[in-house]
Amino acid sequence: MLNPHFQKLEENYIFPLIEEKIANFKQTYPTTEVLNLGVGDVCLPLSLKIAEAICEGVKEMSQKIRGYGPCNGYSFLRETICEHEYAQYGISADEVFISDGANPDGADIQELFDSDTIVAIPDPSYPMYHNTVLLSGKKLLTIPLNDKEGFIPKPPQEHADLVYLCTPSNPTGIAFSKEQLQGWVDWAKKTGALLIIDNVYNVFVSSGEIPPSIYALDGGKEVAIEIRSFSKSAGFTGLRCGYMVIPKTLFIPELHALWTKRIDIRRNGISYPIQRGAQASYSDAAHAELQTQIDIYQQSAELLRSTLSNLNQTFFGGIHAPYIWWKVPGGKNSWEFFDTLLEKTHIVGIPGSGFGPCGEGYTRLSCFLSPQIAKKASDALYDHLSTN
Ligand code: PLP
Repeated sequence: MLNPHFQKLEENYIFPLIEEKIANFKQTYPTTEVLNLGVGDVCLPLSLKIAEAICEGVKEMSQKIRGYGPCNGYSFLRETICEHEYAQYGISADEVFISDGANPDGADIQELFDSDTIVAIPDPSYPMYHNTVLLSGKKLLTIPLNDKEGFIPKPPQEHADLVYLCTPSNPTGIAFSKEQLQGWVDWAKKTGALLIIDNVYNVFVSSGEIPPSIYALDGGKEVAIEIRSFSKSAGFTGLRCGYMVIPKTLFIPELHALWTKRIDIRRNGISYPIQRGAQASYSDAAHAELQTQIDIYQQSAELLRSTLSNLNQTFFGGIHAPYIWWKVPGGKNSWEFFDTLLEKTHIVGIPGSGFGPCGEGYTRLSCFLSPQIAKKASDALYDHLSTN
């Protein structure tokens, strides 16, 4: 009666395990400040402009009846997204589906495919991809990544029906160049694979060499679904709003209609005030506030990068993404290093093995940090590593 695929999951999910370790540490050292560079959650307050738009939306509801909204989201938000994110790529508002975040979209899209579907996933990767493929009973094809290739996944020799790609990437912090991503689009076209592009960190891209969207590439609209979120771009992790683009020009044209049917059955829309808040993130005033926040996160990343560099450490990322992927020094495994780092520097990182076996020997540092915490972490790293 119970879904047998749950047996395939790791017994302990990594984030609760880490929370437990932090709680134990705090119990032993109650006055020590823990520097949390672990879970990649935002740490700066919600933009006031967004908060005002949400409040305004709630007030409006006290004056006018607003019941269930459209399952795919209000047109005001879908049109604003198209205007600001996709105007040059010809994506239309009815190809954008508003949701309560990238996690549900990335997981739920699998429901459109049968259990024989082969899903390719890079290792290491954001754990949701792997876990939801296991739970759905589909076939998993792992694409192992390594430092020699800069943790950039290459199209596999074997056939895959679906491929999850995250760029800019969590956990490795790298982003695909135009040429690398075009290679995937061309391969997908040739082999009949559908790409699911998780692009929730797009606002961290700071170079014209990195495509801001898969739809910037020739053929992207034929082979790719793109998932985005307001979580990291506008501080919505606790508010919940994201979107998925399903072009009608995909080589599987039925997908758009199937997804529409699916959300008609399963979703009753996202809260009106939250969608008003998401729309407000594109106003000039909010945009300026949000850019300041992204700048702070990027400066934190830069400080940590320069500290690790000065300490002759090997690491990836931290330029077009808020994550640094740090090769564990001294031959320890990821979990041993987690304990050492916490004990000696009071820094929490995420053991790379939590993102797949090929992540063993690495640690992920989140750069969603205030300047003060980034400075404390940098000093702690310097004190520990320069004396060891
Ligand atoms: N995808 C990636 C790669 C992420 O790193 C995260 C959150 O950390 C998510 C999806 C989840 O985003 P959301 O908050 O929109 O569900």
